Amino acid sequence: MHQVTLAGLTVDTRHYIGGQRVASDDTFESVSPIDGQVLAHVARGGSAEVDQAVAAARAAFPGWRDLGAEGRREILHRLADLVERDLEGLANLETLDNGSLLRSHRRGVMPRVAMNIRFFADWAMNKLDHPVWQTRGHDNVVTWDPSGVAVIITPWNAPLMLATWRIGPALAAGDTVVLKPAEWTPLTASVFADLCERAGMPAGVFNVVQGYGTEAGAALVAHPGVARIAFTGSVPTAKAIMRSAADNLTPVSFELGGKSPFIVTDDADLDLAVDIAIEQYDNAGQVCLSGTRLLVHENIADAFAKRFAERAAQIVQGDPRDEATQIGPQIHRVHLDRVTGFVERARAEGAQVAFGGGPNDELGGLYFRPTLIADAKPGSEILTAEVFGPVLAMQTFASDDDAVELANNTEFGLAAVVVCGDRERAERLTKNLVAGTIWVNCFFVRDLAAPFGGSKKSGIGREGGTWSFDFYADVKNTVYAPTGWKD
Ligand code: NAD
Repeated sequence: MHQVTLAGLTVDTRHYIGGQRVASDDTFESVSPIDGQVLAHVARGGSAEVDQAVAAARAAFPGWRDLGAEGRREILHRLADLVERDLEGLANLETLDNGSLLRSHRRGVMPRVAMNIRFFADWAMNKLDHPVWQTRGHDNVVTWDPSGVAVIITPWNAPLMLATWRIGPALAAGDTVVLKPAEWTPLTASVFADLCERAGMPAGVFNVVQGYGTEAGAALVAHPGVARIAFTGSVPTAKAIMRSAADNLTPVSFELGGKSPFIVTDDADLDLAVDIAIEQYDNAGQVCLSGTRLLVHENIADAFAKRFAERAAQIVQGDPRDEATQIGPQIHRVHLDRVTGFVERARAEGAQVAFGGGPNDELGGLYFRPTLIADAKPGSEILTAEVFGPVLAMQTFASDDDAVELANNTEFGLAAVVVCGDRERAERLTKNLVAGTIWVNCFFVRDLAAPFGGSKKSGIGREGGTWSFDFYADVKNTVYAPTGWKD
C-alpha cells in the first residue's frame, strides 16, 4: 500500500526519517504531466514529521561530523555508484513525474546527479586546504567545520539534479540533511533515500519529508534546530522563507527565478545565435536560466527573426519519452494556465505573437507551443515577469550601451547570454551586465567548481566548489601564537 512500482523501481510513498519509513494520515497525489495518470499517493507531512526529521538529523550529526571528510567520501562514492547503477530507472521515473525529456535525463541530468555527489565528496578531501598565513608571527589556520542540520527545499523542474546540487556539498561538508522535494515531483527523492541507505549512510544523516510547501516546507524553515536553509524556487516563496528564518537567524542560500537577457550583436554569427536561441526553449521553457528576452541589434533583427521562426517551426513537440521529441509538456494544469495567462495579457496589451501563442491543440494535455512575442510595450509584464514556459520575447537595440541598459532593466540577475563576433566587444558588454552567470557564444556550460547563483532578486549567495562549503560549513580561523609552547 505504501509502495508503487514505476519504471522498474520500487517507490516508497512515505517519508524517510531516521532510517525508517514513516507514514502520515493524509496523502497527496503525484500526477504525470505526460498523460494525467496518478502515479502515487504520497505522504503529506506537517510539523510533527518535521520535528521528527530534524530531531533524527540532529542526533545523527555528531557521528557524521566525526567520520571526517575521508569516511564520508567513501559512503558518498558508493552512493554515486548506486545512482549510476539505477540511472535508467531514475531517468524514466523522473520523466514520468515531471515530463522532462527522457534522453536528457539519461544522458545529462542523472549523470550529473552522480557527479554532484562525487565531486563535492572529493572537493572536501582535497580542495579545502587554505594556505596558512602569518600575522606578526601568529599562524592563521582556516577550517570548514560541519555546521549541523541543513534543510534543502527544491522545485519541480529538475528535481533530483537540483536536490543533489545542494545535498552533495552539504553531506560532504559534514552536515546532516532534511530534504523537502516539490509536491509536484516527489518520487525520485524517495528512491534516492533508499540508495543512501544501501550505500551505508547512517540512519538520520539523510531524511526526506514529503508534503506541501505551506505545510512541511514552512515548518522546516521555521524550525529552531536547523543550521542552514538552502532553497531553490520562486521569489515569493523565498521572501516567506526569509521572514521565517529571521526568527532564528538561520543562514539562507537562495537560487531563485530569472528573466535573463539574450543579446545578439550585429557582428554575431547568425547561425550560432539562432542555434543557441532555440535552446532557450529546452525543458519546455521551465529553466530558471533561460535567456527569455531576445535583445537583437536592429541591423540584423529581421534576418534573425526570420531564421529563428523557421527553426522554431521545426521543433518536435510531444511525448518526452520519444527520442525525437525536443519539447515536452508543462508540469501541471495550474502551470499551463499560468503560462497561457501571460501570453493572453501580452496580446491584450497590444503585443504581437510572432508564432505559437497557446496550448498545442493537436496534442491536447499540457503542451504549450514554442512562442515568440514581438513589439511588447517597454516595462510590460511579458518583458519583466518570469513566465517559466516556452515563451520568449524579442526587442531590438541600436547600440551596445542600449543593449546593456535593456538587459539590466529587470529585478532579476540570474544569467545572461551574449552572442558576439568580437572578443573585446563581448568583454565590454559583459563587464556591465548584472548576472551571476554569463555565457558568451555558448549556453549551459556548467562547471561544479565555478560559482553559481543570482544577483538582485535572483538569489542570495553563491554555491559551487569552495563557495558551497563556505555556506554549509562554519568557516573558522584559529590563530596560533608563536609563544607559550613547552619545548
Ligand atoms: P516554488 O517557490 O513554488 O516552490 C519551490 C519549493 O518551495 C517547493 O518544494 C515548495 O513546496 C516549497 N515551498 C512553497 N512554499 C513554501 C513555504 N512557505 N515555505 C517553505 N517552502 C515552501 O517554486 P516552483 O514553482 O517549484 O519552481 C519554479 C521556480 O524555481 C522558478 O521561479 C524558477 O526560476 C526557480 N528555479 C531557480 C533555480 C536556480 O538555480 N536559480 C533553479 C530551478 C528553478
